[in-house]
Amino acid sequence: MIVVGAGVSGLSCARILHEAGLAVELLEKSRGVGGRCHTRRIEGQPVDMGVTFLHGDDPVFLTALGTYVGHDAFEWPVSLAGDGPTCAPGSLRSSVRRVAIPAGLNAFPKALAEGLTIHRETMAGSISMADGVCRVTSTAGAVFESRKVVLAIPLEQARDLLGTINTSSKDIAGLRALMQMSSSSSCLTVGALYPVSTPDPEFDVMHPPMSSCVALLSHDSSKRTSPAYRALVIQGRTSWSRERLEAPKDLWSRALLEEAGRLLGNWASQPLFVHEHRWRFARIDGAPAFRRPVLTQVGGAMLGVTGEGFSEAGGVAGAFVAGHDLAERLLEGL
Ligand SMILES: Cc1cc2nc3c(=O)[nH]c(=O)nc-3n(C[C@H](O)[C@H](O)[C@H](O)COP(=O)(O)OP(=O)(O)OC[C@H]3O[C@@H](n4cnc5c(N)ncnc54)[C@H](O)[C@@H]3O)c2cc1C
Repeated sequence: MIVVGAGVSGLSCARILHEAGLAVELLEKSRGVGGRCHTRRIEGQPVDMGVTFLHGDDPVFLTALGTYVGHDAFEWPVSLAGDGPTCAPGSLRSSVRRVAIPAGLNAFPKALAEGLTIHRETMAGSISMADGVCRVTSTAGAVFESRKVVLAIPLEQARDLLGTINTSSKDIAGLRALMQMSSSSSCLTVGALYPVSTPDPEFDVMHPPMSSCVALLSHDSSKRTSPAYRALVIQGRTSWSRERLEAPKDLWSRALLEEAGRLLGNWASQPLFVHEHRWRFARIDGAPAFRRPVLTQVGGAMLGVTGEGFSEAGGVAGAFVAGHDLAERLLEGL
């Protein structure tokens, strides 16, 4: 079995298949695992540059949290500020579990990845499916073969990869057309470190109501044990980010920091260290077109497509549950 993408969805799928005794190979274009569940070490301090916190009420997801990071995960955010719009309003319902991890949220996908075969820095460039065999060719020319392949990558990238399949299959054409109906929002993100002596913002997460550019401020160092720096993560609004995706990062980074200064005090515009990340595909915008992962046959081989866009829950919980669901369906078919 080949799984393209070692984000939470690909890892949850691969984990179940591996534990059922199947040989699974993951192809991951980056050096690390976890995709958008990304923790960056800035000056040695973990900073969550993608997902801000893990949240959900799905029992399958909650059990996995308990199994893989149960001893470390703690309730967060506790203190919320601002009543601006949030991209996941459901995450703040009282029935939903919300957690952070002192070492960074990437600890969750890292734990899922333990013991799995992962070809890192290997980007799937094209797929061919014929005579019951699926061949995935990496952009560097390496070929991986299996009877079954799973795509667990952002929707837009999956649609492009599906477009490389040598087939006149109506299923693939229909799938690509459906994928066209959902799209991902973009998010320009700045992680900033300050001296610990700077004022305590007195919130874990803020959704500023009156900002044209900042959607969310995360007091990242409030997730850490004895942090060396105060850390903020500043996430740009969707439309603001989209308009500046190709702009030099210094331009948008400065604008987000200045806005943080306006919201919290001048100190927040003057960090000691910054790191920027351009999330072209941050998360599904609105309701996804798919409620479940897709499993179909092409040229006698099996193709599965999963990811955050293939579950109603969305976000990390949705990505996890969709990967899990697809793995169970693949096992049923054996
Ligand atoms: C700034 C930001 C904040 C967010 N906040 C939250 C939050 O608070 N709560 C929440 O639940 N969700 C949040 N999300 C959304 C959440 O991160 C995603 O829904 C979830 O991580 C998606 O997981 P995935 O496995 O579907 O995809 P991904 O995490 O994108 O994983 C896909 C993997 O596939 C790899 N890949 C892509 N193309 C190829 C290829 N051709 N070949 C090989 N590998 C490839 C990528 O490198 C990546 O590792 C946030 C996202 C961002 C960007």
